[in-house]
Amino acid sequence: MLSRLEIDAGALRHNYRLFCGIAGAQRVCAVLKANAYGHGLAASYQALASEQLHWLGVNYVDEARQLRDLGYGGRLLVVGPAVEREVARAAQLKAELVIGNFVVLQAWLALGQRGPVHIKFDTGMSRQGFLPREAPAVVALLRQHQAAVTGVCTHFANVEDVTDQTYSLHQLSLFEQAAKAFTDAGMAPMLHAASSASALIMDASRFDMVRIGMSLYGVWPSPLTRVSYLQLHAGVLDLQPVLSWRTEVTTVKPVISGEYIGYGCTYRAIRDMRIAVLPVGYYEGFPRIAGEAASFVLIRGERCPVVGRICMNMMMVDTTHLAAVEVGDQVTLIGKDGKDVIAAHDLAGWARSIPYELLSRLHQDMPRTLV
Ligand SMILES: *Cc1c(COP(=O)(O)O)cnc(C)c1O
Repeated sequence: MLSRLEIDAGALRHNYRLFCGIAGAQRVCAVLKANAYGHGLAASYQALASEQLHWLGVNYVDEARQLRDLGYGGRLLVVGPAVEREVARAAQLKAELVIGNFVVLQAWLALGQRGPVHIKFDTGMSRQGFLPREAPAVVALLRQHQAAVTGVCTHFANVEDVTDQTYSLHQLSLFEQAAKAFTDAGMAPMLHAASSASALIMDASRFDMVRIGMSLYGVWPSPLTRVSYLQLHAGVLDLQPVLSWRTEVTTVKPVISGEYIGYGCTYRAIRDMRIAVLPVGYYEGFPRIAGEAASFVLIRGERCPVVGRICMNMMMVDTTHLAAVEVGDQVTLIGKDGKDVIAAHDLAGWARSIPYELLSRLHQDMPRTLV
């Protein structure tokens, strides 16, 4: 590919330490699912490996295997769906499954060598997890098999999109009720519920571990989370963006007034222009729909508007105002160039999406370089 992602190892470690400060170092689970939110699983692990890592989180058992292959020996939480056919493999890898239904719980109980397991409760998202009212039945089944449970957890549905946390507090109370069934039975599982946003703005959600994804990479889960944080805390939190997306100009060409640019002839020049062609399109992860917004890239520190539709592997930008642009010039799609910056939030916004989707869809094959 002709574009690359620069991963700022120092920024990643800095963000990790911020959360160690907020929750306590032993309580931070760095979530590396979805190719480390597009940052590259291996590159991100490599950047974090010099820290005292207590927990890493992934979605798939196979991602747990990749981290073991990279040499990670610490605790590993598989937050994604646990399925029957993978429970034995997870145990071999010492990866800790999150179980949320009786089918998989029975499969785990039937294992000769059971790995550690976390029981998940669905407290208001209608996704993964036992219903809170099933807690006594889960506890009874565990006791019947004399099985110990490592953790009890849940996930919030609506922290990022609001500044009023009433719904999350409701989820929190359902979670605490479910967890009580375990403690009442003499079990002492660790409790965990928080992801980035809740860890940042809901002190009561932190319990024994926080599962930090988006903000580990220096991105606020949403603008509302940032506002909520500012309302609660005197100072700003110094989250440092980790990823920059760069490419190069492959062609510079004149376009005469009246000529069209791109598929569908949706863009017609109303003056003479000079455009640059870039080797990035929707295949690489630049959303096609972003071409319909007033989106731009940075060349020589200046904003260059996207013109015409985004193609599969190419896109065009207007460089008329920059006489000096040449083939081979560096282009920034996300990140800083000179005094200007394009945040993941900006590009996600142009694509009517969120940084989570935008970043996790940056193509796997783009080289990730630690800087
Ligand atoms: C992805 C995920 C997280 C991390 O969420 P962020 O908002 O990215 O911090 C935490 N917990 C679960 C269950 C997840 O799936």
